[in-house]
Amino acid sequence: MTRILHRSIAAALPHAVSGQGVYIQDAEGRRYIDGSGGAAVSCLGHGNPEVLEAMRVQMDHIAYAHTSFFTTDVAERLAERLVRLAPEGLDYVYPVSGGSEAVEAALKMARQYFVEIGQPQRRHIIARRQSYHGNTIGALAAGGNAWRRAQFQPILPETHHVSPCYAYRDQRPDETTDAYAQRLAAELEAKIIELGADQVIAFVAEPVVGATMGAVPAVPGYFRLIREVCDRYGVLLILDEVMCGMGRTGSLFACTAEEVRPDLVTIAKGLGGGYQPIGAVMLSEQIYRAFADGSGLFQHGHTYIGHPVAAAAADKVVEILSRPGMMEHVQAMGERLQAGLDATLGQSPHVGDIRGRGLFRGIELVADKDGKASFDPALRIHARVKKEAMARGLMCYPMGGTIDGVHGDHVLLAPPYIIQPEEIDQIIDRLAGAIAAAT
Ligand code: PLP
Repeated sequence: MTRILHRSIAAALPHAVSGQGVYIQDAEGRRYIDGSGGAAVSCLGHGNPEVLEAMRVQMDHIAYAHTSFFTTDVAERLAERLVRLAPEGLDYVYPVSGGSEAVEAALKMARQYFVEIGQPQRRHIIARRQSYHGNTIGALAAGGNAWRRAQFQPILPETHHVSPCYAYRDQRPDETTDAYAQRLAAELEAKIIELGADQVIAFVAEPVVGATMGAVPAVPGYFRLIREVCDRYGVLLILDEVMCGMGRTGSLFACTAEEVRPDLVTIAKGLGGGYQPIGAVMLSEQIYRAFADGSGLFQHGHTYIGHPVAAAAADKVVEILSRPGMMEHVQAMGERLQAGLDATLGQSPHVGDIRGRGLFRGIELVADKDGKASFDPALRIHARVKKEAMARGLMCYPMGGTIDGVHGDHVLLAPPYIIQPEEIDQIIDRLAGAIAAAT
């Protein structure tokens, strides 16, 4: 008997009672290896003593101070640290409580920026069909995840979507990577022109796609071309790093690898590492200046923004992530994970593609490897994989998704960065067993 409205009502969930390192234990004494960091959240694993101590110290001082009355040293320290570590041009931080809140705030910031600078006619947001930007109404509207949007479509604000950068399915056999990236950039440009060259607020994209047939990086050069198109029409570039940021792909910010300068970046998940709910928007000096020299405020706010205990947890998490060797370890473990998956699952008739970057890997499941045909959605292959994985003591993150009317099933792996080689091998072994049993 439960009084919680769980995500899936029929599911009988085990009760998690303790977590240590890369393992979670349930009330029956079963141990699960956390192969997905929950939903790409637990970047430092469970029970990290330094993060817990930082939270304790902050709670002894002050647990909550409303941001219309006070700022706090800890929130200021976190903001300074993030700006110091971020790619050049991300100069300010707006702290929130999670990923959807970060995306909502970024969209409103982008809109208000144009109001402040005298271009209030700009009202369109463009995103990609392969994307998930959060579950609140605005963020859901921006995302292209058809399954998550379906029943809310009539009440979602209008947004516009263009093709994703999804080489496995969309790059033509006779097309070079450059030509593919150029085709996608041209499509974005055409969409901007269709909506009106001075009517578009922002283009939103995940540098590495997460929850929608995910762990899909863009082809090299794609984001540079996208930036050029945005610049041509004064459109802001919002990169959503809620899932792929904070070291997940082997650099603290995923956009570093794309060599692109965004106007706004959203972060969450790994920022608090699961120790506290926290997210943030990072913004450029240009946007900050428009607010500071204009109305003098950002017309937005939530009760828990800048929460001191959340900021203390995040400040310690980010400090640990920035220590020498940490990102190199993520890269090395990521390569081991990819190589192990290729060797173990690469020949499986039901594994179409294995991709990703750092400790963020996706396995796309197909009914027919050569024709790339998907499984019948009614089979709910992703749900079967999850069940089989849990039975084998593995947490992974399988999901179904629909892009351009085509259904697909995939599994995300996003283990904590403290993972060791033998634990990587354990994840691969258990996942291979789960996929074989489920397909
Ligand atoms: N943006 C991206 C890219 C995400 O993957 C998610 C969650 O999975 C969100 C936004 C929403 O974050 P949250 O679930 O913390 O609201």
